[in-house]
Amino acid sequence: MITKPMRETECDAIVIGGGPAGSTTAALLAERGRRVVVLEKSRFPRYHVGESLMPYCWYTFDRLGVVEKMAEHAFVEKHSVQFVTTDGRVSAPFYFFQHHEHPSSTTWQVWRSEFDQMLLDNAQDKGAEVRLMTTAKSLITEGGRVVGVEAEDCDGRYMLRAPVTVDASGRDALALNRRGWRRRDPVLNKVSMWTYYKGALRDPGLDAGATTVAYLPEKGWFWYIPLRGDVVSVGVVAERDYVYREGVKDPARIFAREIERNMWIKEHLAPGRQFGRYYATAEFSYRGQHCAADGLVLVGDAFAFLDPVFSSGVFLALKSGELAAGAIDAALGKGDVSAGCFNDYGRTLCGGIEAMRKLVYAFYDRQFSFGKVIKQHPQVRGDLTDCLIGDLFRDFDELFAAVGEFAELPRPLAHGEPAVGGGVT
Ligand SMILES: Cc1cc2nc3c(=O)[nH]c(=O)nc-3n(C[C@H](O)[C@H](O)[C@H](O)COP(=O)(O)OP(=O)(O)OC[C@H]3O[C@@H](n4cnc5c(N)ncnc54)[C@H](O)[C@@H]3O)c2cc1C
Repeated sequence: MITKPMRETECDAIVIGGGPAGSTTAALLAERGRRVVVLEKSRFPRYHVGESLMPYCWYTFDRLGVVEKMAEHAFVEKHSVQFVTTDGRVSAPFYFFQHHEHPSSTTWQVWRSEFDQMLLDNAQDKGAEVRLMTTAKSLITEGGRVVGVEAEDCDGRYMLRAPVTVDASGRDALALNRRGWRRRDPVLNKVSMWTYYKGALRDPGLDAGATTVAYLPEKGWFWYIPLRGDVVSVGVVAERDYVYREGVKDPARIFAREIERNMWIKEHLAPGRQFGRYYATAEFSYRGQHCAADGLVLVGDAFAFLDPVFSSGVFLALKSGELAAGAIDAALGKGDVSAGCFNDYGRTLCGGIEAMRKLVYAFYDRQFSFGKVIKQHPQVRGDLTDCLIGDLFRDFDELFAAVGEFAELPRPLAHGEPAVGGGVT
């Protein structure tokens, strides 16, 4: 990728972070003729976790014009998800095409380094200026309004000004951390540890690219995500006390111990060889107090992250980028980028996140199973599937009334709206 170190001092929108959320926002604004500068602290391509996509990502790919590029990358095709009990019993795979016969029903297991590079290149092709190895150090505020960013690259620090700044800095969450806006989920408190295997087993035929969710005791679980190059991404998600019990801290020992607790995982990994390092996260579920302020909009993980279980992270990053770009373009057109312009953005995004959050809570409820809900209320199967493929942004009252009979569901969080009337200092 060619970067332009030109030191422009003014543009229409500054995007902090070149992950899926930032690239999507930048591409769609640039396409509308807005002058966009993306600041990305890393050298691309760079490693990132989060390889399994949700079917409805397709619609944002289509909007971005990258569906063909996705096919060219020859990522592993994902047609289904399956669930496996601790003793190795596999549920009937849930095939997306059985619910929604549409190109989106084939999604992908991606190498994020390549995928994120492709999306960032696309933003650049559409006219966004991408500045790699450039870190946003702080937001510049004047009179309570964000008016730009103080950036740093190898030549030192400089100011960049724009009527609107988009925080797409992922879990670094620049604005949430600097403003004290990060609110942990009151109940979700999982940690994760993961690594990669070469030569591990793949199921035959259509199932070769399936995401497998393999249960551990106490509602922990493994993910098993087949990637291109005979590699499988394998991770453990569970509560901290479970993962680090009996004082064991060494990831290799923890992994070896947990593999023994799921027969399917044990059998599938047996012919494989672990390579590279082990990765770990601390508790990861949070949402921002605000999704926007005067001159500032938060997208993707920079605003909220739920849980990896239904692979909603990249989808919500793409979708929030798409929604934000529309709202920002309209706001720039009116010459008013105050927080109130992002009310609909916040309402829509939080509505979708809340639907997914209810499913995540249900998943972790020890008594719960989706099978029980469908058996009792077969009419909600379609709605449940819609949520799980990412068709999230509508009313699911009937579904959650049914799910609520089997699991304790959370009330919507009160926070996440724009900071109307100030909030940024
Ligand atoms: C354990 C785990 C497993 C997951 N598995 C999945 C999965 O299977 N499927 C899925 O869909 N999602 C998954 N996710 C979530 C997924 O990784 C994220 O939701 C997704 O990457 C969010 O995209 P983003 O663009 O918001 O942020 P990111 O992809 O994190 O991009 C943010 C970018 O901002 C840059 N940046 C940060 N700070 C600055 C700064 N100050 N200045 C300039 N640049 C900056 C970073 O370098 C980075 O490139 C998982 C998450 C975890 C924790």
